[in-house]
Amino acid sequence: MFEFLKKKLKENIKKLKSKVERKLTEKEFEEAFFPFEISLLENNVSQEVVERIKEGLKKELVGEKKGRTSRRIKSSLKKVFDEILMEGELKIDKKPFVILFVGVNGVGKTTAIAKLAYLLKKKGLSCVLSASDTFRAASIEQLEKHGEKLGMRVIKHQYGADGAAVAYDAIEYAKKHGIDVVLIDTAGRMHSNKNLMDELRKIKRVAKPDYTIFVGDALTGNDAVEQARRFNEEVGIDGIILTKADVDRKGGAVISVSYVTKKPVLYLGVGQDYKDLKPFRKEKIIEMLCGKD
Ligand code: GDP
Repeated sequence: MFEFLKKKLKENIKKLKSKVERKLTEKEFEEAFFPFEISLLENNVSQEVVERIKEGLKKELVGEKKGRTSRRIKSSLKKVFDEILMEGELKIDKKPFVILFVGVNGVGKTTAIAKLAYLLKKKGLSCVLSASDTFRAASIEQLEKHGEKLGMRVIKHQYGADGAAVAYDAIEYAKKHGIDVVLIDTAGRMHSNKNLMDELRKIKRVAKPDYTIFVGDALTGNDAVEQARRFNEEVGIDGIILTKADVDRKGGAVISVSYVTKKPVLYLGVGQDYKDLKPFRKEKIIEMLCGKD
């Protein structure tokens, strides 16, 4: 991850350094930041995050006289990233703990559900999966396949059935059998689809999830960030999983999504296997972007 952006940041820190040898005025900073800005935008960092980085660096660097080495610029940049990025942890503190997954089709939602279920199972928690995406062809079979592999019960109805009713049954099943966690898959037509949002709101009303996770595809950059914003506005989200971080060489969505939604990133999907779900650690991301010191 971040191969492109990391290289650009390094180049730009060098460029910025050559400009800030003397006491830096605001105008000089604006000029010096321009290539920086372009690189960030080219790497899918959202406009409002670029502005935030700019303001953060400006505050740190304008008017400064001494110690303006690349290390100083780098540490300013690290400080800004530290303020922008938000990590979070899923605390299973109730039984059954109900998790609702939302997101557009094809982003890796079903895979993310299976990966999280695998992780929870490894922690000794039992799970039941709710096939509440009754819309997309083969979605129920896909979830059933994961359920079989993971040794977990999948609660399902027919295609076209009410996703909320499926979720209700899954929660009842969990209560009856002492299952720790209910993971609810949902349909993911375009986020602009009003029916979908109505349906999601209904599932949310019925299932009363303890936590709602937005799943987005890191590769899609600003699209993923906009989807997260929209789902948060329409149904409310508590945390985020970004998938396909293993093949995302830019990383803009990973950097932007929390700042835009004010919700933490919980995990990054880093491959197609169940084990390929890594907790999102701010420190690690900053190190990947800016290097160790
Ligand atoms: P859904 O339509 O959102 O449920 O998407 P799926 O879970 O079916 O995933 C769509 C495709 O993305 C599948 O081929 C997955 O194997 C792949 N995929 C999901 N997560 C990741 C990931 O973290 N990295 C990579 N490289 N591929 C992923």
